[in-house]
Amino acid sequence: MRRYDHTLKFQVYLFLKRRYYQNYRNAICKLANTDPLVLSREHLRQLLSFVSAHNKYYALYLCKNHELNNLPILTKDIIRRQFKELQSTKQIAATTYKNSSGGSTGKPVTMIQDTNYNSWSEATQEYYFREFLGVGKNAVKSVWLWGSERDLSKINSWRTKVGLYLQNQLFLNTFETSDQYWLEYIERIRSYRPYYVAGYAGSLYQIARVARKYNICLYKPKFVYSAAEMLRDFMRKEIEEQFNAKVYDYYGSREVGAIAGECSAGRRHVFIMNNAIEILSDADRPVNDGEDGRIIITNLHNYAMPMIRYDIGDTGAMSFDRCVCGSSLPIIERLTGRVTDHFRLKDGNLVHGEFFTHLFYFRDWVKQFQIAQIDYDHVRISVVPDSKVDERDVADINVNIRTVMGKDCAVEWLYVDQIEKTPQGKFLFTRCLIDE
Ligand SMILES: [Zn+2]
Repeated sequence: MRRYDHTLKFQVYLFLKRRYYQNYRNAICKLANTDPLVLSREHLRQLLSFVSAHNKYYALYLCKNHELNNLPILTKDIIRRQFKELQSTKQIAATTYKNSSGGSTGKPVTMIQDTNYNSWSEATQEYYFREFLGVGKNAVKSVWLWGSERDLSKINSWRTKVGLYLQNQLFLNTFETSDQYWLEYIERIRSYRPYYVAGYAGSLYQIARVARKYNICLYKPKFVYSAAEMLRDFMRKEIEEQFNAKVYDYYGSREVGAIAGECSAGRRHVFIMNNAIEILSDADRPVNDGEDGRIIITNLHNYAMPMIRYDIGDTGAMSFDRCVCGSSLPIIERLTGRVTDHFRLKDGNLVHGEFFTHLFYFRDWVKQFQIAQIDYDHVRISVVPDSKVDERDVADINVNIRTVMGKDCAVEWLYVDQIEKTPQGKFLFTRCLIDE
């Protein structure tokens, strides 16, 4: 058996969920046999043609010709205000459902998605596993360190338990954890012997950190799959060292599904057959190849409430270089977090969130931290200390923060027992609270 063939267990799973997965198999088949660029163009053409006939919001802009750049940028505010108009008048998929995304602003946005969207997103993820990681997502055993309270709320139902068994997955709830839980999870991973370990970037980092603290050797998987949070360099380093395995970073979102995934050469390839990507300047104009800009995403499969030219709030640059890994998919580089991750200066300039996270590298007494910009001249640092506070480090960090934020910037330190996560269970290292 090839390592990405569906196991008998997973075939049973697909059979049980056949109403939802009727498109999944078709998508898998198309992905395996068609050039991604051809698929991407075909899907975009079909979507634009559909919305010009069956969607009040988009049809307005497409009366002359069916070009993507005739459409306005879709923001979370527009989704909230035009929720009804954005829903298509005709449904092509068997079922639709509500999904919501909080993001770092804490204001959730609700979308309607359909089974066509869901099938394509899952099939694209499967494609990523097969083509880039050399194994089917459910063909081997995996452990998932997952932190979303919403996803985990159903975990104790027998349906979910059977589903996880059939999918070869062990889920471990990392929403709220102390060292004691992590130590237990380390043992559970060891006895489960997964082929790969997957999880929120922050959860993988925390378990690696506990392993270092207690000098425990972690079970070595074939690879580690990081998702749902920005994987910072220092996190990657710690995770790779402790698991003694390579980390693959996956980029997706609740709004548009699978976006991009990292290859063996460490570059992120864009799944253009699932989402079309544009990189635009602040003036909504396309930037040159290789230049940084806002990432604008068009999901190609959600016909129920199409997300076309959606401003996801991340920034990055596209490269059409041929990658040494052999994949023809374009590459997204310098992917950075939500725009709210950046701090704002009075003159309108932004300070990159990573400037602040870098200040906390190699401060061993810091267990967890979050840096929030309360106002233009007020920064609040919350720290969960692991040992005695090092006042020299504190002074050093204060100096560095005032260098970029201004010499009068107040730096407030809070020592806390835990730092709150977003309702989706994501941990944010930096938060800009101005105008939230
Ligand atoms: Zn590559």
